[in-house]
Amino acid sequence: MFAFTYHRPDTLTQAVALLQTREEAKPLAGGQTLIATLKQRLAAPSDLVDLAALPDLRAISREDGRLVIGAMARHAEVEASPLVRACLPALAALAGLIGDPAVRNRGTLGGSIANNDPSADYPAACLALDATIITDRREIAAADFFTGLFETALEPDEIVIRVAFPLGGEGAYEKFRNPASRYAMAGVFIWRGEVAPGEALTGEILVRVAVTGAGQGGVFRWRDAETALAGAFCPAALEGLVPPADEMIEDIHGSGAYRAHLAGAMARRAVARLMVAGA
Ligand SMILES: Cc1cc2nc3c(=O)[nH]c(=O)nc-3n(C[C@H](O)[C@H](O)[C@H](O)COP(=O)(O)OP(=O)(O)OC[C@H]3O[C@@H](n4cnc5c(N)ncnc54)[C@H](O)[C@@H]3O)c2cc1C
Repeated sequence: MFAFTYHRPDTLTQAVALLQTREEAKPLAGGQTLIATLKQRLAAPSDLVDLAALPDLRAISREDGRLVIGAMARHAEVEASPLVRACLPALAALAGLIGDPAVRNRGTLGGSIANNDPSADYPAACLALDATIITDRREIAAADFFTGLFETALEPDEIVIRVAFPLGGEGAYEKFRNPASRYAMAGVFIWRGEVAPGEALTGEILVRVAVTGAGQGGVFRWRDAETALAGAFCPAALEGLVPPADEMIEDIHGSGAYRAHLAGAMARRAVARLMVAGA
């Protein structure tokens, strides 16, 4: 590990000022990715700005028809939250599928989406649920937030403070885990709900399908599946449908064709789960 200066500011203003004035400062959340990166000497920030003492960043609330979750809310807190379970049970279930208990007790929503690992689970929920990422200076639609592998729309000195998930409709998430890391080999979040003004759709129901773990560019909306499900919301509507294999990740864990197959299978399972839940 290279030497760095550790800060624990009490206010958001102080935290942003540190990030803006120090040469290579980085926010620190639960350290689940960042500390490992430092230990391996893959990053050499001059300063770490710990967000742990900032007020309200772990709060979970319901405001104006949205479920609002603080960036420092840990996965275990999202999983256990009665409010999340009541408002968006699929999101609570997704949080419970992340890593192992140690990871869930330290890892945070803000750290997960700021890191934008192509196999992380929350990005799929954010895209499918049309979430809004609220930072210290602006609001960013999830569709504009995830810009590529480990890339987001965040400025280097910008802090995610909370994420707002619109309520209404229903969702389901299915994930095929890498048995070692428990990251998604393919994870599919499906949401279906009311027609919203301005949304392109082909049927009476509106469907969003987001895939993580599989795409070479990270999380993505799977439009062909959305069109198929808008026509007939049942697993059979997806029979034989897979995303393009040559756009999927190829690595030691699996080929592109395998991941495309998994994405199709997880999508059908998520639809089946939604149909049972809605029955
Ligand atoms: C063994 C293991 C298994 C895992 N399995 C899974 C899994 O199955 N599914 C899954 O989705 N994830 C998984 N993860 C990832 C984990 O859940 C964390 O979400 C992720 O590591 C980020 O950790 P963190 O929240 O502690 O953020 P940190 O490690 O502290 O930070 C990560 C990055 O985000 C930046 N950052 C943090 N917070 C903010 C903020 N509020 N605003 C702006 N930038 C910020 C940091 O500067 C850093 O660049 C796993 C991790 C481990 C170690």
